[in-house]
Amino acid sequence: MEKTANITIIGAGVSGLLAAKTLEEKGYSPTVVEATEAVGGRVKTDFIDSVPLDHGFQVLLTAYPMVQKHLNLEALNLNYFKPGALLFSNGKRERIGDPLRDFSALWPTLVSKAGTFKDKWKIFKLSQQLKRTSLNDIFASKETTTLAFLQDYGFTDSIINNFFKPFFTGIFLEEELRTSSRMFQFVFKMFGEGYAAVPQNGIGAVAEQLKNSLKQTTFQFNTTVNFSATGKIATEKGETITTDAVLCSAPLQSEVAWKSCHNFYFETAEWAIEPGIIGLLTAPETYANNINYLFQTKTPILSVTVVKESTHAVTDLEQLVRKELKLHCAIETGRLVKHYHIKKALPDLENIRQDFTQKGNSSNSISIGDYTLNGSLNAAMQSGEAGACAVMNQLQHT
Ligand SMILES: Cc1cc2nc3c(=O)[nH]c(=O)nc-3n(C[C@H](O)[C@H](O)[C@H](O)COP(=O)(O)OP(=O)(O)OC[C@H]3O[C@@H](n4cnc5c(N)ncnc54)[C@H](O)[C@@H]3O)c2cc1C
Repeated sequence: MEKTANITIIGAGVSGLLAAKTLEEKGYSPTVVEATEAVGGRVKTDFIDSVPLDHGFQVLLTAYPMVQKHLNLEALNLNYFKPGALLFSNGKRERIGDPLRDFSALWPTLVSKAGTFKDKWKIFKLSQQLKRTSLNDIFASKETTTLAFLQDYGFTDSIINNFFKPFFTGIFLEEELRTSSRMFQFVFKMFGEGYAAVPQNGIGAVAEQLKNSLKQTTFQFNTTVNFSATGKIATEKGETITTDAVLCSAPLQSEVAWKSCHNFYFETAEWAIEPGIIGLLTAPETYANNINYLFQTKTPILSVTVVKESTHAVTDLEQLVRKELKLHCAIETGRLVKHYHIKKALPDLENIRQDFTQKGNSSNSISIGDYTLNGSLNAAMQSGEAGACAVMNQLQHT
């Protein structure tokens, strides 16, 4: 049944799009006000010579409950990553994988010097244990740092430094593994229960699919709004937006600290590793953290993520990264195709949650967005869905 209440969603990121989808399903026709010219927010892809270049390397974990619920994975034509990683240091490479899902990883994983046999057994044990643990229990568990969790679990420094640190640095976008142990267990469980993948048309295809599912939503692009505590929304051009309720996915500046990263795309003469394998530079001093080749390109294009903070000019950082790739991975880089510096990549959160609690900056607003729960696509979607339900509930009682 068509509902007449006027609902404004600030931000056309994944959370805003999911909020619009949820509202449409209940008969509402919301308006999405977006500062930039397109949907996606942090999930965006540029096309250069038809090659999809994501704004920062990110993967869709197919086991995310919200992904299962809201996305048509088949239509995304996913390219899958192999479980595990290829570890690079000083020109040597070692494979560590999940032999249960990719049998070719059995022997290299067993003989890898990255950790002891006991470490490898513990990885297996942890992944089985997490399969039996519900997400509710993970998010209710005692919160400590990821590093403390791994140490308490009995992993050696060797496997922590050679595998967990570089692998989770690329996911958490911080090098100390100070991210909540809840987030670690959640992500580890998701990796164990599904696959890491990217759509054939880049991660931006996720946002495009959500947008294309909307039929009753109006978009107002290139419109930055200022949202006050009185609930008034004013555009930068001075127009006031009158609305019955607001879902806001744009946090106030003071509300959240951010983690950043750089992403370089280089041409290389040949494929130094197979597309679908994630390479990690394990030496702690390197700027380059993870590498992978784009899928299905005619010529090899290598994506390189830098997480370590630096004061270098981008051109200097690029040169340092090129040297590291040569020294550690024996990869000679060619033309720089594109560079992105993503200053607000992931929210730096202490209290990681899964359950949405309604909060907002005024009585008729509700905050949504990954930063309200935890830094993931799953959380962004979940907050959008739950925020939309909360706003509908609120409207029914006013
Ligand atoms: C480099 C990188 C790697 C990542 N890796 C992964 C990964 O591997 N797996 C994973 O699950 N997640 C990953 N993420 C996180 C994931 O992308 C985010 O959790 C998700 O996209 C957040 O969506 P959101 O809607 O909450 O916020 P956003 O995408 O930030 O959306 C907010 C929107 O609001 C708009 N906006 C802001 N202020 C205003 C204003 N004043 N007026 C109007 N509009 C405004 C913005 O332009 C934006 O479109 C990664 C993110 C980055 C950047």
